[in-house]
Amino acid sequence: MSRAPRKEPALTIEILTLFPEMFAGPFRESMIRLAKEKGLVKIKVHNLRRWARDKHRSCDDKPYGGGAGMVMMVEPIHDALEHLKAKPGAEVVLLSPQGERFSQDLAWELARRKRLILICGHYEGVDERVREHYVDREISVGDFVLTGGELPAMCVADSLVRLVPGVVGNQDSIRHESFQEGLLEYPHYTRPREFRGMTVPDVLLSGDHKKVEEWRKKQALARTRERRPDLWHKLNHKS
Ligand code: SAM
Repeated sequence: MSRAPRKEPALTIEILTLFPEMFAGPFRESMIRLAKEKGLVKIKVHNLRRWARDKHRSCDDKPYGGGAGMVMMVEPIHDALEHLKAKPGAEVVLLSPQGERFSQDLAWELARRKRLILICGHYEGVDERVREHYVDREISVGDFVLTGGELPAMCVADSLVRLVPGVVGNQDSIRHESFQEGLLEYPHYTRPREFRGMTVPDVLLSGDHKKVEEWRKKQALARTRERRPDLWHKLNHKS
């Protein structure tokens, strides 16, 4: 019996980390699990220690010049990338608080790639030569410092996976989401119609789709203006 050829996933994400166990829970649940099961995405978490060069499997060392903490070494990362980049076309991303701020626009851009390699720093970070010579871009998930790049890598992976066609069943839910068209999304309600005197806006119960659409648009504009003056400003100064 001839087998149908296996379809290539739309997106492959490879993650380099010293703490692979951290990914087990989040990547085994919900949307990411379904996307993997459907073969739409492939996510591989690699333990960087596999490419350590000494018998202690060291991947970090003391910083030159002295100071606190440890620094992730360049050699294991070099060797890992040599191995992973044997297949061409991968974009290499370093998670770093000093990188470009992650956004929905960037998520869309990266979700169009075939392959991404995410490097998770830890301790004081990675040897600067990694950033200078091996990385295509650095991404920060915000102006705060986390213990490692593992949580940021999960955020990035999650946000990309849900943009891959076929992952989110109803594409409408992506189209109306916050940051699409530069707006925050309108508010949602579900049953019951009334809870402890708190009611659902009448228009949502009216069955009038046009009115519902208008109300939602108005709400999206109002909350963007109120909560995110930066987005509001951009929206009003689009050429
Ligand atoms: N010493 C670094 C500094 O001051 O810029 C911070 C290192 S942090 C404790 C260790 C690692 O966590 C970083 O190398 C990076 O991979 C990751 N990390 C921490 N905060 C991050 C953020 N906001 N966005 C992306 N990655 C972050």
